Amino acid sequence: MNWLKAFRTKKRSKSIEPRRIPRAEHPVSRSQFTQATLRTLYGLKDAGYEAYVVGGGVRDLLVGETPKDFDIATNAHPEEVKRVFRSCRLVGRRFLIAHVRWGGEIVEVTTFRGAITDSHERDETGRILSDNEYGDLASDAFRRDFTINALYYDIRDFSIVDFADGLGDMERKLIRLIGDPELRYREDPVRMLRAVRIANKLGFSIEKKTAEPIRRLAPLLRDIPPARLFDEIVKLLQSREAVANLHGLRDQGLLAELLPMADEALGDARYRQFIDRALANTADRIVAEQTVSPAFLYAALLWPAVAKSIRTLIEREGHHANVAYAQASEQVLARAMQHVMIPKRFSLPMREIWQLQPRFEMRRGGRAKRLLTHPRFRAAYDFLLLRAAAGEVSKELADWWTQAQQGETLPAAPPESQDAPPARKKRRRRSRSRGRKPPVATSE
Ligand code: ATP
Ligand code: MG
Repeated sequence: MNWLKAFRTKKRSKSIEPRRIPRAEHPVSRSQFTQATLRTLYGLKDAGYEAYVVGGGVRDLLVGETPKDFDIATNAHPEEVKRVFRSCRLVGRRFLIAHVRWGGEIVEVTTFRGAITDSHERDETGRILSDNEYGDLASDAFRRDFTINALYYDIRDFSIVDFADGLGDMERKLIRLIGDPELRYREDPVRMLRAVRIANKLGFSIEKKTAEPIRRLAPLLRDIPPARLFDEIVKLLQSREAVANLHGLRDQGLLAELLPMADEALGDARYRQFIDRALANTADRIVAEQTVSPAFLYAALLWPAVAKSIRTLIEREGHHANVAYAQASEQVLARAMQHVMIPKRFSLPMREIWQLQPRFEMRRGGRAKRLLTHPRFRAAYDFLLLRAAAGEVSKELADWWTQAQQGETLPAAPPESQDAPPARKKRRRRSRSRGRKPPVATSE
C-alpha cells in the first residue's frame, strides 16, 4: 500500500525546537479567557503540572474572534486531573478526557498525546484504531491537525509556544496540515471537513498541498461513524459561514459523499438559491442568537429530492398529494440515511415540515385554524416562505399565512385560490392526478 510505505519512510515528528513568543510580542491576554478556564489552568499549575490553552481558543483570539470554548492540554494524566478538581468527570472510552465543571461551564482537559508510530494499529485505509498513549508537549503538538491549531498558551509565563510555524500560517492566512497531508487524512478523514470549516470561519485559504488530496480521499468519509459525521455536518451548516461551508464541501467533492442528493440539487440554479437562502436564514438566526434546528436545515437540503419524488408520485403514479408527500419523505430520508445519520429527534420534525406543506394550500375554515395551532406550524411556515421566495408557491399564499398568524381572525381566502378540496378541482390535466399542485418542476 502506497500510503503506508510513505508513512514508513517519512520521519514524522522531527525534533524541532519550538518557537516561544513572549507575552509582550503577542496579543493574547488572560483576561480574554473565561473564569472557568483560568481556574482550571491555575488549578493544574498550582498542583505542579503544565497547563496550556490550545486549539481554537488561541487561534480565534489571534484573529480577533471570540472562541467557542477553550481547550486545555496538560501533562497531568486524567486520574491526576481528577484529583486536582472536585467537580471533574472522566469521559471517553479509548482516550480519557477530563471534564472540569465550574457552575454551568465545562472545561475540557486533555492529557498530552503520544506520537503516532508504526506500531499503532490501523485499519486497511490508514485510520488509527488504538490510540491511548500519553506523551509530552512536543508529541501532542504534532498530533494536532493544522499548524494554526497547534499554538499553546502557557499559563506559567503567558507565552505562546509554536512548534509547526502556526504563527507564520496565521500571517499567511493558510490552513496547513501538520505532516504529510494524505497520511493525516487517512488517520482521520474528518480533518477534510475541518479544513473547509476552519478555512471559512477565519477567511483563510487551504494551502495547496493540504487541499490537493481531498477530492481523491473524500470516499474515506464513508467509514466514519455516522454520529460523528452528523456532529461535524451540524457544525458546518449551523454556522455563520454555512453557505460558504456548503459550497466549500461541494467544491472539494465532499458533499457528494455526505449528502449526494443535496450535491445534485445544488447543480440546479433554482434549488441552489433555495438551499442558500435556507442556510443564510439559519446563519442570520445564529448571529441574532436565536435557536436553530438541524431539522430545518436537513428539511431544506433534502427538499429538492423530496419535491422531485412528489412530482413523480403524483404525476406518474397518480397518488393523492398527502400520500405522495408521506411516501416521498420516507424514501428520501431512507436514501439520505445510507450516507449520514439523522437522529429521530430531527428526522421526525423534518418530515413534519415537509408534510405540512400541502396543508398551507387549504385555507378555508377550520383547516387553517388547526394548522395555525400545529406545534410545527412555525417551522413549516418559515419553510413555506422559502418556497415562496423560490417561486415554488405564490407570494400571495405566503402573505396570507403571514397575516393569518398575526391577526385575530383569518384573512379572506381569495375566491380564485386553489383552496377547493381536490375532488372539486376543475382545471387540471388530472384524471390520474387528484392531489394538490406538486412542487415546481425543475430541469432534471
Ligand atoms: P472550534 O472549537 O472552533 O470548532 P477547534 O479547532 O477548537 O475549533 P475542537 O474540535 O474544539 O476544534 O478541537 C480542539 C483542538 O483539538 C483543535 O484545535 C486541534 O488542535 C485538535 N483537534 C481536534 N480535532 C482534531 C482532529 N480530528 N485531528 C487532530 N487534531 C484535532
Ligand atoms: Mg474548540
